Amino acid sequence: MSIKRVGVIGGGQLAWMMGDAAHKLGVELVVQTPSQNDPAVTIAQDTVFAPVDDGIATEILATKCDVITFENEFVNLDALSLLAHRGISFRPRLAALAPLLDKYDQRCYLRDLRLPVPRFLAINEDLNSLQSKIESLGFPVVLKSRRHGYDGQGTFIIPDWATLQHKLDAINTNKTAHQSLFLVEEFVPFARELAVVAARSVDGDVVAYPVVETQQEQQVCRLVIAPAEITGDQAAQIEAIAHTLLDSLQVVGVFGIELFLTTDGQVLVNEIAPRTHNSGHFSLDGCETSQFEQHLRAICGLPLGNPALKSNGAVMVNLLGYENSQSDYQDKRQQLAKIPQSYIHWYGKTESRPGRKLGHVTVLLDHQHRDEAIALAHTVESIWYPS
Ligand code: ADP
Repeated sequence: MSIKRVGVIGGGQLAWMMGDAAHKLGVELVVQTPSQNDPAVTIAQDTVFAPVDDGIATEILATKCDVITFENEFVNLDALSLLAHRGISFRPRLAALAPLLDKYDQRCYLRDLRLPVPRFLAINEDLNSLQSKIESLGFPVVLKSRRHGYDGQGTFIIPDWATLQHKLDAINTNKTAHQSLFLVEEFVPFARELAVVAARSVDGDVVAYPVVETQQEQQVCRLVIAPAEITGDQAAQIEAIAHTLLDSLQVVGVFGIELFLTTDGQVLVNEIAPRTHNSGHFSLDGCETSQFEQHLRAICGLPLGNPALKSNGAVMVNLLGYENSQSDYQDKRQQLAKIPQSYIHWYGKTESRPGRKLGHVTVLLDHQHRDEAIALAHTVESIWYPS
């Protein structure tokens, strides 16, 4: 059956950026998202207004499309499983998401696949019984909420045992269901953070985009440099990780994989995103096939496109909110547009808040040169952020 209507759970910027690719491929998008103001409402053929974890809304979504995909993984898998049993088609399939939605389960899955991960353990009620194990990770450690973490929400760097006790006490006092489970892992004093976006087709073909370097500030991605300045062996190892993971989960669609490169050249997997990823936004302007087109190609059963860079390199800078405002920052966007080979993507959000992703800029590079990429990123940031 040829797929003509794709349902997307989530209507943020990731769904919005599928709009052009959907048009190109002759596919219509129907989104499930809570608010009229969400970015993808403007490009969707139809919208089911509901939170992403509302399974009843997804049942309605299913009546409007041929296949359902995700731009947001904070879904209710139990509710979706009932729909899958009734024949509703999800791509990627729910079994490919199941081991990933909880960060502890995800680490276990990766470890069982023999992929390299930081040392980790789950926190249980009796923290004191874990003291020696946690101390053996060496402080600082990283405390992570097992579920619903994103952009560093729910990730805490903990300098010592007393701080860990206080932090967990404080969390337990204000407990919500989402915050109640934690894992702790070794702090990796990485030399670089890397990421790769990879896609797998219905037929099992896997393609990977160039490995990129990502730079985070306060655990939020600020910029991405493509390609990363790493050795051929490291790039090959990361591609192999992507193949192993996507094959093992029998993914159909695009996944993002975040990694650490240690000072002695080791690669460790940090996190898997079962969807298109911020580290792949450069592909919209920088690659033969964008990650958004690639995702739609995969889930619609089409052959995968070429993920290669069109230029020698690219740098992508997130435009993060730095104030509470309803401005659309026209002036700044006009200034950014004057940077040669720059492409601005403005998500059309009606409210700016500190740290909120409002848009991004990609600048294509004539040379593959990390210092040049970083200097250009600083130019973008000096225009965007108030001095
Ligand atoms: P989120 O799901 O919120 O994106 P991540 O686990 O990716 O959370 O963490 C966000 C950022 O925090 C990472 O990009 C990295 O900069 C830092 N971080 C996370 N885990 C570790 C770790 N084990 N060691 C060092 N830094 C870490």
